[in-house]
Amino acid sequence: MRTSQYLLSTLKETPASAEVISHQLMLRAGLVRNVASGLYTWLPTGLKVLKKVENIVREEMQRAGSNEVLMPMVQPADLWEESGRLNDYGPELLRLNDRHNRDFVLGPTHEEVITKLVANELSSYKQLPLNVFQIQTKFRDEIRPRFGVMRGREFLMKDAYTFHLEHECLEKTYQKMFDAYCRIFDRLGLDYRPVIADTGSIGGDASHEFHVLADSGEDDIAFSDASDFAANVEKAEALAPSGEREEPSKDIELVELKLERLIKTTDTPLNASVKTLLVQGTATDDESEKFVALVLRGDHQLNEVKAENLPSVASPLTLATEEQISALVNCHSTSLGPKGLSVEVIVDRSAAHLSDFTCGANENNRSYTGVNWQRDCGDITVADIRNVVEGDPSPCGKGNIVIKRGIEVGHIFQLGQKYAEAMNCAVLNEGGKNQTLTMGCYGIGVSRIVAAAIEQNHDKYGIKWPKAIAPFQAAIVPMNMAKSARVKETAESLYEQLLQDGVEVLFDDRKERPGVMFADHELMGTPLLLIVGERNLDEKKVELKNRITGEKTLIAIEDVKALFS
Ligand code: ATP
Ligand code: MG
Ligand code: MG
Ligand code: MG
Repeated sequence: MRTSQYLLSTLKETPASAEVISHQLMLRAGLVRNVASGLYTWLPTGLKVLKKVENIVREEMQRAGSNEVLMPMVQPADLWEESGRLNDYGPELLRLNDRHNRDFVLGPTHEEVITKLVANELSSYKQLPLNVFQIQTKFRDEIRPRFGVMRGREFLMKDAYTFHLEHECLEKTYQKMFDAYCRIFDRLGLDYRPVIADTGSIGGDASHEFHVLADSGEDDIAFSDASDFAANVEKAEALAPSGEREEPSKDIELVELKLERLIKTTDTPLNASVKTLLVQGTATDDESEKFVALVLRGDHQLNEVKAENLPSVASPLTLATEEQISALVNCHSTSLGPKGLSVEVIVDRSAAHLSDFTCGANENNRSYTGVNWQRDCGDITVADIRNVVEGDPSPCGKGNIVIKRGIEVGHIFQLGQKYAEAMNCAVLNEGGKNQTLTMGCYGIGVSRIVAAAIEQNHDKYGIKWPKAIAPFQAAIVPMNMAKSARVKETAESLYEQLLQDGVEVLFDDRKERPGVMFADHELMGTPLLLIVGERNLDEKKVELKNRITGEKTLIAIEDVKALFS
């Protein structure tokens, strides 16, 4: 592509409307333009990045055995009536009528359409398990669209759905998809964490979110600043000030959350050195429960004690004393999971509902997945709970708590039978009997990832794309092409050569000063600049500038090709 033909709409000034850096840079580098609240046009540079993210996601979904389909964005409201979500989903669901006054919705997600499809297409257990995905536009009438494409109303999502005869099969596929998600975010070059999450309006059992770490994130994740404790805390507001003794609610009971299964997201084996585990809930108004405390136990004895308090607004992390915990443990025996960890949570039923929880253990940057939470209640009173804030000692005794922000870029759910049951999605099993299917669903915010990647990869000059999603691999920047026939000739032939080699290269053939060209490429985050100048041509060399390292070197023209092989 030549800049003379390219819609290169860079801006010098930072638009006042843009609050976060990714939104500012996406506007300045000419990636997107706002059309209306939460609605964006993707300009060529932005679209190139979006497509690259999309392709990585597509490749990994296909690798995981998922079939690509494409469902309509407009969905009959009948389907939502059938699933029971027409009323439940709330005002994010945009409703509309056609000319015959029939009711439709704009799809915020596609469980209904896919469940209906599978109910019609499948008849036998032999066709299972089935894994399908699409990459498609969603519409959610967000109450507060903001941060550009990070929280748009219209946005691009990859949503996958799996269908199974048995829960065990769902669990296996869920793990496979979890692994595929890790590969996707690894390939994208992002610093991310998986956390246990809420199942929200989608419903179901187990769920994980994938978060990209960034200051502008809307969720909180907690770590130790030493390498012996890492806990992911989702949807906690900034932790409340410490030192205050809280009077726990009278209406408290103990809920045991038994860790039945603990699967690490990394290959380091989980062992007895894991002493603590952090779990956190988020309060919502729908139901009358909240976390107030956690009891954590290690392999053989009570190693660490940790408690949390979640008032309806802020979510202070609290630490209970060992005596209390002993009391708790005494009055409520806890069975250890196969990996030797168990957690007890005290729930205040008079307060808000526990909607999200995340889990991590005392190793740096590790979080645990596949944790099964089992409830088993008994009455208990807690006397003394202390708040813990950032900078407080980590419950494991090593290091202090650090809170980081995360951007939710992916979310996977074990749905169970909620939709299949409501929509009569069943097949004949081996015994010839009709059996309702069990489902999983798996979302990735493709367009949000573009913004999240920028939040993590930028400097004062502009975007520093991870290699895998840079809009161009390189740009050719000729110096004073108008004055030097030799520069022009070399730049043109280098351009032709690279095009032939399949390199995504932008040829900056504008009649601009070098400073203007360099500024634009730094803003856009082009990883490599090939600077063609009269000075180096006697030696048949061009200057190579690396956007990430800032390094400048001379390279023989004949060696340029090898940079991209
Ligand atoms: P959030 O908590 O940010 O509102 P969500 O939990 O409502 O997201 P999901 O229903 O889990 O979103 O959808 C799957 C993915 O779609 C999310 O993990 C996120 O990456 C993306 N996503 C959701 N809402 C938006 C939005 N308004 N704009 C861009 N991406 C979004
Ligand atoms: Mg949402
Ligand atoms: Mg969410
Ligand atoms: Mg979510």
